[in-house]
Amino acid sequence: MSQEVKSLSQNHEYLPFVRTSISEQTIADVVECLRSGWIATGPKVQLLEQSLQDYLKAPHAQLVTSATAGLHLALLALDVGPGDEVITTPMTFVATLNVIALCGAKPVLIDVEPGTYNIDVKQIEAKITSQTKVIMPVHFAGLPVDLDPLYALAKKYNLRVIEDAAHAIGSEYKGKKIGSFGDIQVFSFHPAKNMTTGEGGCITSHDNTFADKIGRMRFHGIDRDAWNRYSKGGSQHFDVVLPGYKCNMSDLQASIGLDQLAQLDAGNQKRQTLVNRYYEQFQGWEEIILPQKPAYEHFNSWHIFAPLINTAKCGLSRDEFMAKMKEHNIGTGLHYPAVHSFSYYQEAYGYKIGDFPAAEHIGNHVTSLPLFPSMTQQDQNRVITAMQYIFNKR
Ligand SMILES: *Cc1c(COP(=O)(O)O)cnc(C)c1O
Repeated sequence: MSQEVKSLSQNHEYLPFVRTSISEQTIADVVECLRSGWIATGPKVQLLEQSLQDYLKAPHAQLVTSATAGLHLALLALDVGPGDEVITTPMTFVATLNVIALCGAKPVLIDVEPGTYNIDVKQIEAKITSQTKVIMPVHFAGLPVDLDPLYALAKKYNLRVIEDAAHAIGSEYKGKKIGSFGDIQVFSFHPAKNMTTGEGGCITSHDNTFADKIGRMRFHGIDRDAWNRYSKGGSQHFDVVLPGYKCNMSDLQASIGLDQLAQLDAGNQKRQTLVNRYYEQFQGWEEIILPQKPAYEHFNSWHIFAPLINTAKCGLSRDEFMAKMKEHNIGTGLHYPAVHSFSYYQEAYGYKIGDFPAAEHIGNHVTSLPLFPSMTQQDQNRVITAMQYIFNKR
């Protein structure tokens, strides 16, 4: 390490690429829940569900223990199983595909747009077969997929749509919040996401039959929730209408989410401000390639800011770049290796390197730079200065 680099990193503590914001209000809400005598599913879950319905303008918002559980339940509720195909993207967190595999269905992958990293909607129709049941787009980094043509296809072929909206709480497509329209959306409240419940997820839907089924499936197949059974006035009797799962959210988790939701818009605005500055500062840099914005109107929640390292121009591989950032005491993320590069997906479905060149290129060159609401301009200056050193720009 050069003297210069040393002095840079030694003066600063480690800057992670994501840091969860927990307010004093959140801590107070959790303490209140603990003291209330009710920490399992109950009034806090109801309150957060109502708040999410209002915020997202969704007719149904149902909390579960994770987005992974939510995606899995949604597929199962649509009776997706062996023999069925689910169209999705290789540029996502592996959970998106794992749940399809767990249902016994086949994930049919479509390559992504090289600039937005989102599923290339234009390529979907050619992959629809008589086995296709669901399209599962992912709003990468919070950038909404081009949903109008996607829903037009779903209508034409009578397919259901489950939007993996793990990154996209607060995002808007043509002036409408993700979750306020369409079929089914699943949001994640993992601590790294734009709002958290510790761990958790939310399924929004626009179909009463589907929502009723999710309500039973997330809690043992029982057709009323625990609060109604155990609270004063609730009945001890219940029926089991199907063998359900156990992925209901607890009040303890929901109490974390209430102030998180109240802070969400401010946090997303802060992310937008930081991202605007990244775009400004990196303008004209050939060493990195910035994510592109689609022509349609949208608001991006900017869950992550993930440019590509232009290895030919900077003489560094992505992994070397990430290692050098670490020398400067700065964390970076890797979202994501293309899912078809994982051995299970190659062995189980015959996918191989070369099948989805755009996703592979992103998977091999992408890195997420620090971005979170409590990040200061000084933090951001450190990132930019470190990159100037690493790319020999000063
Ligand atoms: C985080 C994430 C998930 C899974 O969310 P959990 O709440 O951790 O289960 C699914 N899909 C994508 C794209 C994600 O980023």
